[in-house]
Amino acid sequence: MIGDYHVHTRHSDGKGAMAACVEQAMALGLPEIGFSDHLVPAGKDYEAYGIGPAANLDQYVAEVRATAACYPQIRVLLGLEVDYVPGTEDEIAALLARHRFDYLLGSVHFVDGFGFDEGRSRDDPRWQDVDAIYRGYYRTLRRAVETGRFTAIGHFDLPKKFGRRPSSALTACEDEVLAAAAAAGMVIEVNTAGLRRPEVGETYPAADVLARARRLGIRVVFGSDAHRPEDVGAGFAQAAACARAAGYESTLRLSDGAQVRLP
Ligand SMILES: [Zn+2]
Ligand SMILES: [Zn+2]
Repeated sequence: MIGDYHVHTRHSDGKGAMAACVEQAMALGLPEIGFSDHLVPAGKDYEAYGIGPAANLDQYVAEVRATAACYPQIRVLLGLEVDYVPGTEDEIAALLARHRFDYLLGSVHFVDGFGFDEGRSRDDPRWQDVDAIYRGYYRTLRRAVETGRFTAIGHFDLPKKFGRRPSSALTACEDEVLAAAAAAGMVIEVNTAGLRRPEVGETYPAADVLARARRLGIRVVFGSDAHRPEDVGAGFAQAAACARAAGYESTLRLSDGAQVRLP
């Protein structure tokens, strides 16, 4: 079985308590679970979906540690999903320096200030130029990779969330991010949230991106992006099959950096 490293709780925009998420992971037989609540730079939507100020981050860390101590039967990891916004590197670095995290997911949810994956953005006029959104997104994602700060890229092709796909011209942009990730030794997350959205119907990233990542030697981890306990570990069998079809035989275990065979 594989660990789930992308789980949100009430500390950011998730609905559940940490203990309930851990119990779901144990019920599925997962060997480890990592919490990855949103760390968002101050400003827009900071407290709406992010952990909030430093004191909240400290509370989050304390609760992950306490939960890990309560459940010795499973490894509980301390992670974060860090929202990469160009220009906020120093602010984020100061927050990250407060604790020792087991891993960090680097994610992009804003392109030039546009929160493209929020529900209220679904019919925003900026979607009239789909390629432009993707181009801005991959430019930002590449900058996130190049900071060298993150363990894994979260939901690689997130702009497809509402079913809009880019033209084939965007393949080159995807490849630039993949090349940067390979050069940085960064990992890619196979995120199963897309499997739960009818407009997407596949993992983030799509199978063809995953196959190209494999050819570049980029390692993979798995994440449900659960925002409620019952989604922890959701879709993992299908995601593992997708990774195998892309040529992967193993996945990275974040607790100790070992490569373990995919089920
Ligand atoms: Zn995200
Ligand atoms: Zn997430």
